[in-house]
Amino acid sequence: MPYKAPVRDYQFLFNDVFKIEQYSNLKGFEEASPDLIAAILEEGARFTEEVVAPLNGPGDKEGCVLHPDHTVTAPKGYKEAYQQMVEAGWPALGGDPKYGGQGLPHVVSTAYSEMLTGASSAFAMYPGLTDGAVAALTAGGTDELRDLYLPKLISGEWSGTMNLTEPHCGTDLGLLRSKAVPDADGTYKITGQKIWISAGEHDFTSNICHLVLARIEGGPAGVKGISLFLVPKFIPDVDGNTGERNSLQCAGLEHKMGIHGNSTCVMVYEDAKGWLLGNAHEGLKIMFYMMNNARLGVGLQGLAIGHASHVAAVEFAKDRLQGRALTGPKSPDKPADSILVHPDVRRMLLESRALLEGGRAFLTWVSLQADLAKGSEDEATREKASDYMGLLTPVIKAFLTEKGLKVTQDSMQVHGGSGFTEHFPASQYMRDIRITLIYEGTNGVQALDLVGRKLPSKGGRSVMTFFGEIDAYVAEHEAGKVPAFVKGLKETKAKLMDGTMWLMQNGMGNPDAAAAGSLDYLHIFGLTSLAYMWAMMAEQAQAAIDAGSTDPYYATKLKVGRVFLDRILPEADAHLQRMKAGAEDLFALEDEEF
Ligand SMILES: Cc1cc2nc3c(=O)[nH]c(=O)nc-3n(C[C@H](O)[C@H](O)[C@H](O)COP(=O)(O)OP(=O)(O)OC[C@H]3O[C@@H](n4cnc5c(N)ncnc54)[C@H](O)[C@@H]3O)c2cc1C
Repeated sequence: MPYKAPVRDYQFLFNDVFKIEQYSNLKGFEEASPDLIAAILEEGARFTEEVVAPLNGPGDKEGCVLHPDHTVTAPKGYKEAYQQMVEAGWPALGGDPKYGGQGLPHVVSTAYSEMLTGASSAFAMYPGLTDGAVAALTAGGTDELRDLYLPKLISGEWSGTMNLTEPHCGTDLGLLRSKAVPDADGTYKITGQKIWISAGEHDFTSNICHLVLARIEGGPAGVKGISLFLVPKFIPDVDGNTGERNSLQCAGLEHKMGIHGNSTCVMVYEDAKGWLLGNAHEGLKIMFYMMNNARLGVGLQGLAIGHASHVAAVEFAKDRLQGRALTGPKSPDKPADSILVHPDVRRMLLESRALLEGGRAFLTWVSLQADLAKGSEDEATREKASDYMGLLTPVIKAFLTEKGLKVTQDSMQVHGGSGFTEHFPASQYMRDIRITLIYEGTNGVQALDLVGRKLPSKGGRSVMTFFGEIDAYVAEHEAGKVPAFVKGLKETKAKLMDGTMWLMQNGMGNPDAAAAGSLDYLHIFGLTSLAYMWAMMAEQAQAAIDAGSTDPYYATKLKVGRVFLDRILPEADAHLQRMKAGAEDLFALEDEEF
């Protein structure tokens, strides 16, 4: 079943909704002319649809192979496609020009990343983790390290990984045992075992740069004693030639439910040479640059896999003939009507589409905030955008993956029994998407981050600014072109406000109650964010129609938006009611009663 990249949606978001031409005075945007962006979208779609997507199914079946010499080969075709991608310059799209990157806006590279991930999430993880390594190295590397590593990482010639997890230490990083011993030459000897390291070993880059969390001997216990190290597979000379093999290896590959084309490695470090990034004992601060990047990337995975599964479900529904329309046959010349005539099938497809289109707008808008935080000349704009990034990262990660799972599940359901067989791609999408709710901090932990850290941070400044922006939008547009959308936004935002007040009143005195309701609260946050996006999209679609456009895209957009208002937004009521249940019922059982 072919993958189809969402090119038209991105054109609409870039040109009509967010009008990114208005930012042409920002760094990176000056090069991003509408023509160049159109070419990137078209060419990105071609590359991902024609080169990467065909590897997705076979890669799932073949998986990665660990050899006796501890090397790993990725599925057939991955290496060649990766090389093609590097030669075409795709990994360098958003990279810093100082290090050979093309310096294009993040919002543009995000669109390409969605296409790559939708085509094959397992494949896309290899360059995706490298992006995170670039972020951490940029934040914590010395000039010397940056000059040596960043050009090769940005081009994709080398790849990167992130090494946090150990067998006894997942969410609770304070427990980690990997140790670092200072060496006479200023480097460190790293020893320890890391598990589930994505892209930890493979056969398509000449070096792999591991970013490893470890505790410097004698350092404080807990998270305050964790440092971050750059530990390359091959130690480069000053010119960047890969030299001596470092003492680390892949000791095993995980057998797992999905993303089979991505190598999930047990990594063993034995006195491996590592370079400290940032200050000693402050590694988490630097690692957060990588983790925030990765969290947005995982939210994107939820959206991208959801989209790919939806495309397959639509194709299937058009072809599958079963039963008759309740109102009489739609195709009397055929033995049965297509399943598209059934309201429940239409519900699943359209709810999916409403979530995907809203989610894509949300991801694009947040990516734009990343560009503003970095490149705006106005300090207040930079500060606001940076506040939004902090506030919304857990929402993007958890909400888009939860909704991506719903979309993928409904897409499988549309397939009926065929979806459960391996003959159709629905089952692979279902297996591939499930991890997105777990890694990069489980969604439960994202919700705690939102409620416990992001809401109160800076005295609540970020959240209050966000609420203020929505209130201002509502006030300006209530009597405008699309009142139903603005009303939906206003009412959902009121529920979010209600939930926020409830947390303020109950959270301090009863942290279990706040934590018990945190994921429901995050969902209301996500629904409000999507309502905001849908209001802006509907407004622009209506404006295009009013201006005489005959492009059917705009009228369709409004019809899909109505599904969002009618069928997705009412979920906010249930979430609010659930969060207000507190934690009493959850703690009514004694542990022995479980
Ligand atoms: C395929 C795959 C790829 C991965 N890739 C990488 C990688 O590249 N690099 C890397 O370092 N790691 C990687 N991981 C590890 C991943 O990030 C962890 O699995 C994840 O952070 C959760 O940790 P855990 O599995 O140990 O779960 P645990 O921490 O044991 O959590 C178990 C359950 O308890 C809940 N829980 C735990 N603590 C709390 C708390 N304080 N409050 C509320 N609930 C809590 C969790 O939400 C979860 O539901 C990968 C994992 C997988 C499966």
